[in-house]
Amino acid sequence: MAKYTITMSCGHTDTVELFGREKDRQRKIEYFEEQGLCKECYKKEMQAQVEKEGLVFNASVLPSISESDGDFLIYVWFSGNTMPHKEEIKALGGYKWEECQAASNLLSLKYEPCWGKTVKFQNLKEEIEKAKSIGAKEKFEKGLFASANYEMALKNKEKWQANKEQIDAIPKPITPEIVKDHYWNGRIYGKSGNYCVYLDNKKTPITDEQEKEITAYLTAKEEYAKKVDEIKKA
Ligand SMILES: [Zn+2]
Repeated sequence: MAKYTITMSCGHTDTVELFGREKDRQRKIEYFEEQGLCKECYKKEMQAQVEKEGLVFNASVLPSISESDGDFLIYVWFSGNTMPHKEEIKALGGYKWEECQAASNLLSLKYEPCWGKTVKFQNLKEEIEKAKSIGAKEKFEKGLFASANYEMALKNKEKWQANKEQIDAIPKPITPEIVKDHYWNGRIYGKSGNYCVYLDNKKTPITDEQEKEITAYLTAKEEYAKKVDEIKKA
């Protein structure tokens, strides 16, 4: 390894470290002289590119889906000239400076941070409008990795839908009238002839008949949860 002072194509001199055989070093020096930029000019060039690109709003489908309603999850993030828009991006709500979940970053070992967040597909339109309101252009991630994510999301959605149909087919335990619409810790206290529950933190006596009904309900609820779990694990 050796340091070389080279007059770059921009006319400024810069020092670079070169490795390898003399012949290869000579070739690199020629390349720098013809096309290379000094560190300052390189920085300026990068900045000019980013400014030319402008603010870009990106979206890419994630392989996982929303567990609650089966909706697709979309990763949205800003790229390009984000620096001058930092406060506006934050004001849009939910964006964090975090590792970018773009599909094309999946195999990247580098930490690639961005202003990003995860939204449901049903909210994507709204997010696009918000991004446009601060002057961003929209861009959707395409390519092999984005397609792979989409395929996986589709599969997950199909599975979710099939699970939902099975879960919906299981009768849901009916909540006994006495505890319905109350805050209840799910416990019964006392003994036969003297049972009580705490409803909205208030001690409430119940009959033996009600105790039986509530106990049966708790058992049914447990069985229901077990069946749902089995379906999801299958
Ligand atoms: Zn220069």
